[in-house]
Amino acid sequence: MSSAADPACIFCKIIEGKIPSRKVHEDEELLVFHDIHPWAPVHFLMVPKAHVPSLAQVGPEHEALLGRMLTLAPKLALQEGCRPYPDGGYRVVINTGAEGGQEVRHLHVHVMGGPRPWLKG
Ligand code: 5GP
Ligand code: ZN
Repeated sequence: MSSAADPACIFCKIIEGKIPSRKVHEDEELLVFHDIHPWAPVHFLMVPKAHVPSLAQVGPEHEALLGRMLTLAPKLALQEGCRPYPDGGYRVVINTGAEGGQEVRHLHVHVMGGPRPWLKG
């Protein structure tokens, strides 16, 4: 399930440029920007431009999009300063639902990395 922008959604507002963000990458389907409260020295969010509430709503129509997000994540992680595998690396997280720790109800992939210790994670 995908839908048009939800006017109450903070990530839809960022995608529309109504709220500023520090952009990492943009293409037709995706916006990637730095998290406003980073848990790690590198912490950015990969967000589909379509308003999909969470991983719980994805279907076969999202397979290509999810594949693109996961294959782009390592490239952007290195670009943003994560050190290479295996000594460096990064953590990729999709919080889903209240008990999954999701606060913003617009599907997003967290990519976190950089030297430890981190604030969280
Ligand atoms: P969740 O807990 O839903 O997985 O993660 C939401 C993330 O969005 C949090 O890490 C939070 O810091 C980030 N966030 C919330 N509002 C904004 C915002 O207005 N701008 C940016 N750049 N990040 C935000
Ligand atoms: Zn949204």
